Amino acid sequence: MKVYGFVCGWLTAPMEAFVEGGAGEAKVPVPAYLIDHPRGRAVFDTGMPAGLRTDPQAAIGRYLAGVFKADFTPEQAIDRQLEAMDVDPASIDLVVNSHLHFDHCAGNALLPNARIVVQKREAAAARAAGPPKEGFDPLTMLDGRDVLEVEGEHDLFGDGSAVLLPTYGHTAGHQSLRLACDGGDTVLAGDCCYFHRTLSDLKLPGFAHDREEQLRSIARLKALCDRGARIIAGHDPDQWAHLPRAPAPLLAG
Ligand SMILES: [Zn+2]
Repeated sequence: MKVYGFVCGWLTAPMEAFVEGGAGEAKVPVPAYLIDHPRGRAVFDTGMPAGLRTDPQAAIGRYLAGVFKADFTPEQAIDRQLEAMDVDPASIDLVVNSHLHFDHCAGNALLPNARIVVQKREAAAARAAGPPKEGFDPLTMLDGRDVLEVEGEHDLFGDGSAVLLPTYGHTAGHQSLRLACDGGDTVLAGDCCYFHRTLSDLKLPGFAHDREEQLRSIARLKALCDRGARIIAGHDPDQWAHLPRAPAPLLAG
């Protein structure tokens, strides 16, 4: 199994959007990952809506467009980055969405043959919310697709090498992905923690679906970290300054 990391663009917002009471501004990466496994290919998270470049209000709604400024090129879309490393986007078997926020699932349509894997709770929350009055509609990322709704832990390839972990709280059905590679565990945390330091300082943004549940999920990732697992946070610019990006593998083993 080999794992590759991509940065599908950057988001700039007041630090307060990432850390409650934070000062100044932060520019954070929007990552996606390819898990190239002998039994299939999975992509974890798929980046931002293309329309965000030209008409942010139409793409994500007035409120979010006022908070987040996106910075990305067409070449940074997940399909283009896969093509750049000779991986056909149509060959992707599974798309795992950590959750259905605009910067984690908007590229699903670029991977047209993939089965989409989300937590049952996440899909249910999107359905219950109904179409938004404006901006990004997460349900359109699932509509017309083969969707596998999982509950809790789920072994993607049946050999323990890539296991989804429920890390509810940031959204109703947020999930992370534990990868057994390079002689140890690595967890793609998604937005369970925006920054690696969040595991220790527990400073969350004002926004959370369920803050207490998110803190319990962070405690589970912190326990894995304390036992030697590497945790890759959802939007950590300092961490991404040191991580290898595709076509260099992030993990191999
Ligand atoms: Zn999010």
